[in-house]
Amino acid sequence: MAEKVLVTGGAGYIGSHACKALARAGFEPVVFDNLSTGWKGAVRWGPLVEGDLMDRASIDTALAEHRPAAVMHFAALSLVGESMRDPGRYWRVNVGGALNLLEACAAAGVRNFVFSSTCATYGDQDGVLLTEETPQRPINAYGGSKLAIEQMLQDFGKSAGISHVIFRYFNVAGADPEGETGEQHVPETHLIPLMLDAVAGKCPALTVFGTDYPTRDGTCVRDYVHVTDLAEAHVLGLRRLLDGKGNGVFCLGTGRGFSVREVIEASRAVTNREVPVEIGGRRAGDAAALVSSSTHAIEELGWEPQHSTLRQMIGDAWAWAQKPGFAE
Ligand code: UDP
Repeated sequence: MAEKVLVTGGAGYIGSHACKALARAGFEPVVFDNLSTGWKGAVRWGPLVEGDLMDRASIDTALAEHRPAAVMHFAALSLVGESMRDPGRYWRVNVGGALNLLEACAAAGVRNFVFSSTCATYGDQDGVLLTEETPQRPINAYGGSKLAIEQMLQDFGKSAGISHVIFRYFNVAGADPEGETGEQHVPETHLIPLMLDAVAGKCPALTVFGTDYPTRDGTCVRDYVHVTDLAEAHVLGLRRLLDGKGNGVFCLGTGRGFSVREVIEASRAVTNREVPVEIGGRRAGDAAALVSSSTHAIEELGWEPQHSTLRQMIGDAWAWAQKPGFAE
């Protein structure tokens, strides 16, 4: 029988791609999701347990029933701007939910934990290439809440013997190249899907948040990584834990940054259509540039990102945008 992995947030964008990668690698992903932002239709590679991380008993029940070999923890609030407007909610849901989950894992004897962290834990670092050793100084509540969970994992490692792999994601983009799942947020706040909405005429224009940053063209620079490459890294991280190789922290990006203007330019080449654009002010909580050094994941995990060109990420997102998406 296939080994089970409990995937919190498995009905969401990144979680559903991870479930597909897990199933392809021979695992059975058991999705644990409250469907607050996820979609039943995105759960295609294993069972769905509808439950909430704020409800400890529902986690205990899921772990007792499925006895997973590991937990992959994706479920979280993840919007920088929203976290600045309502920080309390981010601390309560992200940190409180992770704490319940870790205590439940400790009690149930689950010893392998893969955690979705973020480049937002680094804050504004003046354009340096970010590595796993770069000091973390978050400038928004989203990054702060994720850093707190990273620290929590250290403590649960010592007290309960839970080994962890932490992935610090850079900007995740694209969609399943086979079109089986993709990005569907309500409301959408991310650059590439909003840009494609503007291209398709679903909204009047893309607003560029700030043109006065200290970057090469004044717009923010981000390191975009294809969601399928990211999902593959999770399988490698899981294998590392199951092989008993112990804790690890890995940045997942490509080592190349693109400005908002460069992303818009690349979109023209992919869709052959203009992006209607308007210039707006800065969004609170945004760092000027976040670019990763991806060498550690490549060298240590054997990660081989194969889809993370801007052209493929925008192309796959564009193909997904032509599909009906998930129904409510
Ligand atoms: N951005 C923008 N207009 C939008 C959405 C995003 O100019 O409508 C910019 C944003 O300021 C950031 C980059 O695009 O520099 C990526 O933002 P996104 O929300 O996609 O991801 P984040 O970096 O917040 O994780």
